[in-house]
Amino acid sequence: MAVEQTLSIIKPDAVAKNVIGDIYSRFEKAGLRIIAAKMKHLSRAEAEGFYAVHRERPFFGDLVSFMISGPVIIQVLEGEDAVAKHRQIMGATDPKKAEAGTIRADFAESIDENAVHGSDSLENAAIEMAYFFAATEIAPRTR
Ligand code: UDP
Repeated sequence: MAVEQTLSIIKPDAVAKNVIGDIYSRFEKAGLRIIAAKMKHLSRAEAEGFYAVHRERPFFGDLVSFMISGPVIIQVLEGEDAVAKHRQIMGATDPKKAEAGTIRADFAESIDENAVHGSDSLENAAIEMAYFFAATEIAPRTR
């Protein structure tokens, strides 16, 4: 397994629930290291740009409104097999289908407000990391 980096977002619903520390603890217990982090209240343009691949989907407008409804915490996670490991800890997109003990099963209310985002491939991880962080803001162990 290779050491990878992936982009993670704690969405406005989870920030409002005051579970940032619990979620960070799950990353660390899984062997994922937080190598960049920031709290940000996204602008509409930033949220639309981030989710541009979903622009034609029926839920796009609601998704953007939700993502700008409050601050988010954005981080880069590093570790063995980080992209897949992070997706596993997050659980399925729909919290009703998420495995017990995952972040979405424990904290998300619905498929629309589902607590966390995680890159779904190594290729997208690189694009998403660059969307939110300058190279100088990321402090990898592997540097
Ligand atoms: N989403 C939604 N309604 C849907 C499907 C997706 O609001 O029916 C939102 C949800 O917040 C999800 C995001 O769009 O996390 C991106 O969808 P994707 O299928 O990429 O899921 P993810 O990779 O986040 O599990």
